[in-house]
Amino acid sequence: MNADPAVQLRLLDVQAVDQRLDQLAHRRRTLPEAAELETLAAEHSRLRDAEVVAGTAVADLEREQKRADAEVEQVRARKDRDQKRLDAGQVSSAKELESLQSEIASLNRRQGVLEDAEIEIMERLEVAQNEAAALGAERESVGKKAQEVQAARDAAWAQLDADAASARAERDELAGGIPADLLALYEKIRADRGGIGAAALRQRRCEGCMIQLDAAELGRIRGLAPDLVVRHEECRRILIRTPESGL
Ligand SMILES: [Zn+2]
Repeated sequence: MNADPAVQLRLLDVQAVDQRLDQLAHRRRTLPEAAELETLAAEHSRLRDAEVVAGTAVADLEREQKRADAEVEQVRARKDRDQKRLDAGQVSSAKELESLQSEIASLNRRQGVLEDAEIEIMERLEVAQNEAAALGAERESVGKKAQEVQAARDAAWAQLDADAASARAERDELAGGIPADLLALYEKIRADRGGIGAAALRQRRCEGCMIQLDAAELGRIRGLAPDLVVRHEECRRILIRTPESGL
């Protein structure tokens, strides 16, 4: 394959822009803000699930408290009714009086037990409410942080996209002056060789693989026509001769 030496040099400019584009794409893929946002989103989702569980526990305890309250109320009402009968002097027989007094005493004990249980439920309810509130506050704070990080990520992406668009425009202009067959060869080698398809021969060294060319290969290249497209035997990349090649 043949190409004017100036066109071959231009291939090095295309190579430089392509590397810049690769770096921009790499930075876009590995942006720390994007990774941080993923972590925050997972944390937000975990907190939301925990909040649902805590909310269910609160609702259960509220129901339990209502039930306990109703039970206490029931015992108290029955005790009041007994007490009224006692106070009204409606009970005449000693046996009935004794039975009524015994029932009141038993209801008093029952009320005490139920009230203790209710207090315990209320304490558990308070703990559950505090936990639900703390989870809600934490979720809100994580959500706020996620919004900030998302804004930073989007701004970074926008900047990288703008840089890539201008690099692509530059590349299109540079590549426009290169014959299609040379460009296709360059792109094929670039795809096979870690993003570098064309390299300068500088100070007797291939800048694609950084290997120093031996005297025999330098001699061979020295003898070639300037417009011949040369490949480095070691790495198979297009080797571009420059004034600093050391030939
Ligand atoms: Zn090489």
